[in-house]
Amino acid sequence: MNIVTKIYSRLYHVFGPQHWWPGETVEEIVIGAVLTQNTNWQNVESAIRNLKKDRLLSLERIARTPLDQIAILIRPSGYYHIKAKRLKAVSEYFMHRWGCDFPTLASLPLEDLRHELLTVYGVGFETADSILLYALNRPVFVVDAYTRRIGLRHGLFKNNLEYDTVRAFFESSLPVSIPLLNEYHALLVRLGKEFCRPLPRCDSCPLNMPEYYDAPARTFSKKIKNRNMNRIHKIK
Ligand code: SF4
Repeated sequence: MNIVTKIYSRLYHVFGPQHWWPGETVEEIVIGAVLTQNTNWQNVESAIRNLKKDRLLSLERIARTPLDQIAILIRPSGYYHIKAKRLKAVSEYFMHRWGCDFPTLASLPLEDLRHELLTVYGVGFETADSILLYALNRPVFVVDAYTRRIGLRHGLFKNNLEYDTVRAFFESSLPVSIPLLNEYHALLVRLGKEFCRPLPRCDSCPLNMPEYYDAPARTFSKKIKNRNMNRIHKIK
């Protein structure tokens, strides 16, 4: 088992299934993926409740609704003027380009679809991959700030790598399994929120064991363990 799958097994064993993405429909997941940019999920939930109350939790309706009206409703999610524009752009893309035909979208070549999504206003790598994985059930690994922090602290990869390099690292270390990719990202978010915070809580963290630091098992030694622990303390 490689280090990436070992970490997954450990986290799944400790935390169990995370039941992501929190959303009842494909459209709600797409909307949530835009609203969650730079904010926490509680704020997104408030914005989604507002949209639901006004019967606007639909890409088609958002595409038809004036920008200002959307902005007021999604205010709790922060950066609401920018996010309203992004939400409109994403809604118009799915509506006008694909007629919100998600079964057809699910059958398109993955990289072509990803490339196209990345051309939509306000859709960056993380948002595109969240939509692909959680809304469209496509096998991609979602990289976020928690992924980078945990990976860096465990010596999995270097700092300042491009998004796609980190994504390729995880994807090449894991089987092509949508449920596993779905769960893995959610587990890393949980680990990042509860333990691997800016000031890490290593003492009680489920990954604070030598076998979860990147080193081949046969050469793993006290020296390497100390090196890795020193690395963590430096980051602290
Ligand atoms: S809190 Fe410490 S042990 Fe846990 S993932 Fe972060 S660096 Fe690793």
